Amino acid sequence: MRISLLERDSMTDPLTGVFNRRYMDLRLSEEIAKARRYRLPLCVLLLDIDHFKQINDRHGHQTGDQVLVALGKMVAPVLRETDVVTRYGGEEFLIIAPHTPLSGAIDVAERVRKRIESGDFGLPGEPGEMAGTSVTASIGVASFGEDMDDGEKLVRAADENLYRAKQTGRNRVIGGTPGATGIAAP
Ligand code: GH3
Ligand code: MG
Ligand code: MG
Repeated sequence: MRISLLERDSMTDPLTGVFNRRYMDLRLSEEIAKARRYRLPLCVLLLDIDHFKQINDRHGHQTGDQVLVALGKMVAPVLRETDVVTRYGGEEFLIIAPHTPLSGAIDVAERVRKRIESGDFGLPGEPGEMAGTSVTASIGVASFGEDMDDGEKLVRAADENLYRAKQTGRNRVIGGTPGATGIAAP
């Protein structure tokens, strides 16, 4: 399918080139409808860069922008073609993983986390740090199911898991039903 420039602009985030929030909302409702109709598993991954404010403060807003662009490019190759990367807001990305049960989505999230941790963002090394190793992200994962049967609930659950990932030390993945024990990646 050919997509016109105008159509592409209305779907993508101008800075990073990944899908924008508007597209995310539409696509997520579509995927939820499919998951419900065909009884397919579906997960969302909410990724938030750790201490991004510090990256801006230390290296400047423009470098912060470059980190967002680099991260957008880095994530796609560790995902499947059917996964959808969107910029949810500021330094948060939401990944829609259709046809994926929770355990698979946690594996995906862990791959993404490791890719970012080991990625070279071209940042100058800070004293006591090795150059390029200071960008990490936390990821909350949630799975479509009985109690999580609309987009808002699903994203909220991922956000609660993300919050716990932040609280328990950052640079980690937490998935499952919030309030339950939750599954942390090893
Ligand atoms: P945490 O580990 O808890 O997520 O800490 P944090 O510093 O990443 O989180 P916080 O929400 O305090 O800060 C997010 C920062 O992201 C603040 C905001 O200025 C910055 N930011 C949001 N959008 C952009 C953007 O498009 N470009 C740049 N360079 N910075 C952005
Ligand atoms: Mg944030
Ligand atoms: Mg952050």
